Amino acid sequence: MAATKIARRDPTEHDVQIEILFCGICHSDVHSVRNEWSEFMPTVYPIVPGHEIVGRVIQVGSAVTKFKPGDFAAVGCMVDSDGTCPECQAGFEQFCPNMTLTFNSPDKHLGGVTYGGYSESIVVDQRFVLRVPSNLDLAGTAPLLCAGITTYSPMHHWKVGKGKKVGVVGLGGLGHMGVKIAHALGAHVVVFTTSPKKKEDALRLGADEIIVSRNVDEMQKHVESFDFILDTVSADHDINAYLNLLRRDGNITLVGAPPKPLSVAAFALIPRRRSLSGSNIGGVAETQEMLDFCGKHSITADVEVIPIQKVNEAYERLLQSDVKYRFSIDMASLKSE
Ligand SMILES: [Zn+2]
Ligand SMILES: [Zn+2]
Repeated sequence: MAATKIARRDPTEHDVQIEILFCGICHSDVHSVRNEWSEFMPTVYPIVPGHEIVGRVIQVGSAVTKFKPGDFAAVGCMVDSDGTCPECQAGFEQFCPNMTLTFNSPDKHLGGVTYGGYSESIVVDQRFVLRVPSNLDLAGTAPLLCAGITTYSPMHHWKVGKGKKVGVVGLGGLGHMGVKIAHALGAHVVVFTTSPKKKEDALRLGADEIIVSRNVDEMQKHVESFDFILDTVSADHDINAYLNLLRRDGNITLVGAPPKPLSVAAFALIPRRRSLSGSNIGGVAETQEMLDFCGKHSITADVEVIPIQKVNEAYERLLQSDVKYRFSIDMASLKSE
């Protein structure tokens, strides 16, 4: 990656212009930069990735009521939608067929594609700008806009809370947020990991127990006991081993995306009316609800703050899972480019 100049539109009456202070590095950034999702979302170069954006409002249009200059604000994976389809009407903008992603998505205003958060500023319709709780560290708040909502939304949907036993498979960027949020929701939280070395960290993040998933005896002890399992693993793995741990009506939600189809045994689902589903981010209102929840419970991501000059190195490290647990780019560093 290298520095380049991009255009941002002048704010229209409904727009908010934000000086970007921090932007998290998500796995989708890496996939897009490398054009690994070419089948359904080919990358248009030059690409400016980044959809975990936190900053300060510097300018607002005349019709903007939600923000004023000086406010802290955040932008996640979406910057627009049609607002009229059944999904939008129901508050599920993330499923709108005409939704505009924050980067590499057709730009209705300027033509070409949208450019994301690895930049000095961004101009976004106020409907897609979120308020940031004043008590949260900004660098650690940025990853909430993708990793946070991606884990909060399915737990909210499947009613994770007090008295529920919840598993989190994989302890990376998504997984560590899943543990924090499930714990704050009051659930009994169990982390599945392939590496016993992660035990201390899992407990510190809020887990009540950890299970080494390769240990068949350990797994066996938890058969038919889980209400919900969040699966964040993006590599091939045996989903049936986890399905068997669900009690009646239990659910596993996939938020990681293995490149090859998973093999699902019908008899892992049928006997206890178990279900397997997927989820992505959340709608705008739900994203604000997640941020407010994180504010109330003082939850941020564990981040390693880097200058933009280290971004290529960070991508290499991310691919090796060598980060605890998210990189957050300090955008002030862009000024020295
Ligand atoms: Zn993301
Ligand atoms: Zn829509």
